[in-house]
Amino acid sequence: MFDIIVIGARCAGATTAMLLARKGLKVLVVDRSTFPSDVISTHFLWPHGASYLNRWGLLDRVLEVTPSHTVVNLVNEGIPLEGTVPEELLRQYFQLFHGDDSGIVQRYCSVRRRVLDKLLVDAAVEAGAEVREGFAVDELLEEDGRVVGIRGRTRDGTRVEERARVILGADGRNSFVARTLRLPKFDERLKCTFAYWTYVSGIPLDTVHIHRRGRLGLGLVPTNFGQHMVLVFGPSEWGTTFRRDVPGNFQKALDFISPELGELVRGGQREERFYGTLDQAAFLRPLFGPGWVLAGDAACFRDQCTATGMSHAFRDAELVSTALEEGLSGRKPLEEALKSSYESRRRGQVASAYYDFVCTLAEMRPPRHDDLSLYVALRSNPQETNRFIATMCDVAPVADFFQASNIFLLTDVAKESSSQHPIFERFEATSRTYLQNPFA
Ligand SMILES: Cc1cc2nc3c(=O)[nH]c(=O)nc-3n(C[C@H](O)[C@H](O)[C@H](O)COP(=O)(O)OP(=O)(O)OC[C@H]3O[C@@H](n4cnc5c(N)ncnc54)[C@H](O)[C@@H]3O)c2cc1C
Repeated sequence: MFDIIVIGARCAGATTAMLLARKGLKVLVVDRSTFPSDVISTHFLWPHGASYLNRWGLLDRVLEVTPSHTVVNLVNEGIPLEGTVPEELLRQYFQLFHGDDSGIVQRYCSVRRRVLDKLLVDAAVEAGAEVREGFAVDELLEEDGRVVGIRGRTRDGTRVEERARVILGADGRNSFVARTLRLPKFDERLKCTFAYWTYVSGIPLDTVHIHRRGRLGLGLVPTNFGQHMVLVFGPSEWGTTFRRDVPGNFQKALDFISPELGELVRGGQREERFYGTLDQAAFLRPLFGPGWVLAGDAACFRDQCTATGMSHAFRDAELVSTALEEGLSGRKPLEEALKSSYESRRRGQVASAYYDFVCTLAEMRPPRHDDLSLYVALRSNPQETNRFIATMCDVAPVADFFQASNIFLLTDVAKESSSQHPIFERFEATSRTYLQNPFA
């Protein structure tokens, strides 16, 4: 009999298992994968994600083998912005969600999942959790309307049954736990991006670049093994035509978004195949019920045009492990602990506003005139640029940056500075061409 069985041993599962084991609970974590292994995911980690790793004593292990940065370069329609997530906003974020801002770092990195997830699994083992790799759960045990255990198969086909006080589904967006319990999805948003990426060596650039032009975007980020992760994304309704010729359309998109970066990638050596997905439709699921809890993508999935899934999975891990410890130690009734220490923060106003923000961005509409005015205005305002970057990655509340008084102030400045900007001379003609699918 375990206190908790965690299904899924990656960003949400291994970390929750580690934190619960550190609190002295008896934890079993199972995953049908074996480690090290990748998942269909890019792996850009914003400073709050890196801060969680630092809080848990794991960041140094990541940075030993992964390049990291404090500055990110965002280029929208050729308008460059450069900035960092401010320490003060990171502190406010950790205070808001966890009441404790220790371990803050302002670093970005892009760590391959085969590196990160293995490290997380090892940390769960070191903390005292029992980890079983290659173990596929295919049944939930239920008694009197409550989930009380799992049944599954080990790698050699042996059937095994285990019981626990709580079963945590950290089993990804197609969650087995959610499907088995027939949990509803709600607030679904079907409009999303397609994303294709690969790994290239020999690119002489050690900075992080995220560019948008029209309805397309790219990411170029140094990662492990001396390679760069190169990503192209766009509206999912263009995905099927993009997919007809991935290598050709990938390069075509790079050249369109940034001819300079397109040239750098062309001059490098592609080291792996292309990876990709056409479907990143967003949804929420209920967070807990009798004997079960969900965390990470199983609980909430959103488009990854802002690359926040891993950081949010880490946030879930801290919140849910605190709640479970309170409930299972008897300090609070379990349901009350999950409601107050997990659900109310995970589904509060700040998190809901960000969900909506990302779902709107994921439609990949062409930029509007006011978007461009904002980017031009931000160029002369490093402090607001930093706050904009912090808002994009969900460190600063969306409502703060986009509050009316701030936007009025920025656009007043914008009116003066932007009217001269060459982008507005050709904007109307250009923006019409953005609506056509370039891959058709
Ligand atoms: C295209 C794309 C790009 C992304 N890019 C980024 C990015 O740049 N930055 C970022 O922060 N996030 C990114 N994400 C999001 C990120 O990948 C997820 O948010 C994150 O992996 C969620 O972690 P998780 O632990 O909840 O689930 P997962 O990583 O999906 O892990 C779930 C685990 O559960 C296991 N499992 C499932 N069912 C069973 C079962 N029945 N029995 C046993 N084991 C089971 C699986 O084997 C898997 O190992 C991206 C996602 C996509 C799709």
